Amino acid sequence: MRKVAIVTGGTRGIGFAIAQQMIKAGFITCIMSRSAEEVCADALNALRATEADVTPEVFYMAGGIGVAADREAFVSEVVRRYGRVDVLVNNAGVAPKVRADLLSATEESFDYVTGVNLKGTMFMSQLVANQMLAQPLPDEGMRGVIVNISSFSATVSSPNRPEYCVSKAGISMLTKLFADRLAGEGIYVYEVQPGVIKTDMTAKVQEKYDRLLAGDQFPIHRWGTPEDVANVVKMFVCGNMSYTTGQVIYVDGGFMNIRSI
Ligand code: NDP
Repeated sequence: MRKVAIVTGGTRGIGFAIAQQMIKAGFITCIMSRSAEEVCADALNALRATEADVTPEVFYMAGGIGVAADREAFVSEVVRRYGRVDVLVNNAGVAPKVRADLLSATEESFDYVTGVNLKGTMFMSQLVANQMLAQPLPDEGMRGVIVNISSFSATVSSPNRPEYCVSKAGISMLTKLFADRLAGEGIYVYEVQPGVIKTDMTAKVQEKYDRLLAGDQFPIHRWGTPEDVANVVKMFVCGNMSYTTGQVIYVDGGFMNIRSI
């Protein structure tokens, strides 16, 4: 039986690299992002051409994770086609459209960012966890894995994008809550906190991060790559992390773990 993975936002950046790893690991890989399928055609073709031991099977549906009807349409179509979900990677996320100071950030931006990052992750997890619970518990006792891609912004304060930090701190609590609630059900929940990763999201602030990465705060003086994050996600989903849940791994060049003076 072939296992099924959902990767939200798997068409670009970190999500694309995660989708590639899922395909290489043999998962049927199901992706949702907001863009119409034609817009993502190159990415989807590239994913379907991934070199893997089993022929890649990639399903795409356009939709927003912050929209209940879109989440429900996507997950029910995945289950209709493939009968199950074994892995959920909550990767899709947005930065504020405009970075604004804590004292002037708008409610509109707060609702937009938390609506996608936090509400979307919470209710996508709820939907998929209930689907996993409806599936029989396999002999090895593990029903499924959920991986949340939060950020080091879950912990580190950036007063010029408060809504992003709050949304990512909220995701860290979701990791704990779902790990706690689902451990006894054979569903294990993990979190990756990326640091500075070269993608479309960070393209607008490239110079700032070039300077930061050259300084002392980042022991590994380079940009992270989407593949750096995807390699850790693969470790979580491939069944080698038995007797762990709620685990958080920083993929940030040593930033969170090492304080050097
Ligand atoms: P990108 O902006 O490069 O890609 C985001 C992906 O998510 C795209 O596929 C996008 O597709 C999709 N997406 C955005 N909004 C939604 C939505 N509402 N519903 C469904 N899909 C959506 O981002 P990154 O790859 O850089 O980031 C991926 C994750 O990693 C995010 O959660 C981000 O916060 C986190 N992260 C990134 C870091 C970095 O330095 N890049 C650092 C720390 C964390 P579409 O536009 O078609 O919807």
